[in-house]
Amino acid sequence: RCDVKSFLKRNWLLIATVLSVVLGIGLGVLVREYASLSNLDKQYFGFPGELLMRMLKLVILPLIISSMITGVAALDSEVSGRIGLRAVVYYFSTTIIAVVLGILLVTTIKPGVSQSADNIDREGTTPNVTTVDTLLDLVRNMFPENLVQACFQQVRTLMKSTMEPSSNSCYCHTCFQSNLTKDYKIVGAYSDGINVLGLIVFCVAFGLVIGKMGERGRILLEFFDALNEATMRLVQIIMCYMPVGILFLIAAKIIEVEDWDIFRKMGLYMVTVLSGLAIHSIIFLPLIYFAFVRKNPYTFALGMAQALVTALMISSSSATLPVTFRCAEENNRIDKRITRFVLPVGATINMDGTALYEAVAAIFIAQLNDFALDVGQIVTISITATVASIGAAGVPNAGLVTMVIVLTAVGLPASDVTLIVAVDWLIDRFRTMINVLGDAFGAGIVQKLSKRELERMDLTSDVDVANP
Ligand code: ASP
Repeated sequence: RCDVKSFLKRNWLLIATVLSVVLGIGLGVLVREYASLSNLDKQYFGFPGELLMRMLKLVILPLIISSMITGVAALDSEVSGRIGLRAVVYYFSTTIIAVVLGILLVTTIKPGVSQSADNIDREGTTPNVTTVDTLLDLVRNMFPENLVQACFQQVRTLMKSTMEPSSNSCYCHTCFQSNLTKDYKIVGAYSDGINVLGLIVFCVAFGLVIGKMGERGRILLEFFDALNEATMRLVQIIMCYMPVGILFLIAAKIIEVEDWDIFRKMGLYMVTVLSGLAIHSIIFLPLIYFAFVRKNPYTFALGMAQALVTALMISSSSATLPVTFRCAEENNRIDKRITRFVLPVGATINMDGTALYEAVAAIFIAQLNDFALDVGQIVTISITATVASIGAAGVPNAGLVTMVIVLTAVGLPASDVTLIVAVDWLIDRFRTMINVLGDAFGAGIVQKLSKRELERMDLTSDVDVANP
């Protein structure tokens, strides 16, 4: 009895969150059936969910800044270089594995072969984004013009069909910026997210400099460390609100979806993506984790459950980051010197789920168009899907937009992204969940591989700022 009590006490938030998902689905279905809400009513209905999103986004900025700066400064540059390298090797290899898995599945299941592109409704117009454009944007974001600007980023998102651009439809950096102020309607809540990549680049440089400044740098280090602790306390408070927010987020989404029939039409495509994500997360990632860490990967994944449910509900790795931190540090006991360094970078560039999805979706679109792909084109898809997943921001539907890179690279019409828009809100949730899981396993593996360096640092430093 005592066990049950302590289990409930330890896991009340997770249990409440899972319950809220179930209740939210029920509530959404009921309201959809029995009440006819106007658009404004729907907006009011979704308000508690909107609040949760706002609160989570609110803490991303102080969290990323404080964790990255203290994370880098607490390690000496040689150790942080080595940890960074291990993380990047892990990111790349798991992303490539995800892409290859996606390609194998989509070429075996062939979800698009029995259909034609004309049978599926296209949604809206597509931005005219080129590969070079997207890559340049990626680099541009790494070097923001100023620090305040780094707190903003315009994510290229698709336009709704009802919102045709009145003048030109060019989506290059300059036109996109100027059009934002005109009559463009940007789909997705995150058109003004945070430029996480730019902040990370700045914080790494800043942390390295602070780490080398000796006594004077210590003042700054302690400041950012205190900021980090204060932010994590805020996160703890926000998480108490999570079950309520999630209940309304999911209920509002169910009420909002107009075309459920599309899931029947796109069934096989969705089965392909979802089974790829399932195989990657249930078999491949755990195997890799076990190979390095020699501990039960599923216990580890269970420790991340709160973050995974959050990712599933809010479709954003960046906004899930506060929860990912808490689960990794508190449930899975990953060293803060690792999480502070590996998790924010992972949430921005390590997206196994997105990479797998990009590869499957590109080949699915080729199949719909009766477009035969040769081996060279399939290799091109693997490379560009990897690049596109790195380029995608950790925000809802970002992968859909960077898909354009993959399509144009093999000569498919970029506008065909619109064929898969209608189901993206659902697939996005699952791929975000796998993105977050991949980051967490990565932190576990990097911690194991860096054990010796961390122990050596514990011996040499008298006060450990990251783990006081
Ligand atoms: N929503 C995903 C994430 O935040 C990115 C994507 O659209 O694939 O990780």
